[in-house]
Amino acid sequence: MTAPSNIRAITEEKSLQFTWPDNLDAQLPFRFLRGRCPCAGCVNEFTGERMVHVEDIPEAIEIADVAFTGNYALKIVWSDRHDTGLYTWEYLRELCESDDATVLTDGL
Ligand SMILES: [Zn+2]
Repeated sequence: MTAPSNIRAITEEKSLQFTWPDNLDAQLPFRFLRGRCPCAGCVNEFTGERMVHVEDIPEAIEIADVAFTGNYALKIVWSDRHDTGLYTWEYLRELCESDDATVLTDGL
């Protein structure tokens, strides 16, 4: 999976905007992204059951920091200090194509 060509935080809309090389341009709300955290503390490693849901996340959630991990994922540090989630490009792309994303420009 190729990396997004651009990622930027839209603070006023509390969203992260992803632009992909095929021109798909989509925004994902911080709260949704935090609620979809793929780490072992949020999803049971053995059963795959999600233990932290979007509804559990405060509306005021913010991103404290983001960092690239290798060339395959984005590590997001949240304002609630949760920082164990690695969002792979593949996973982010999947979220950008989900119904919860606001699509600005459709890819080809
Ligand atoms: Zn998590």
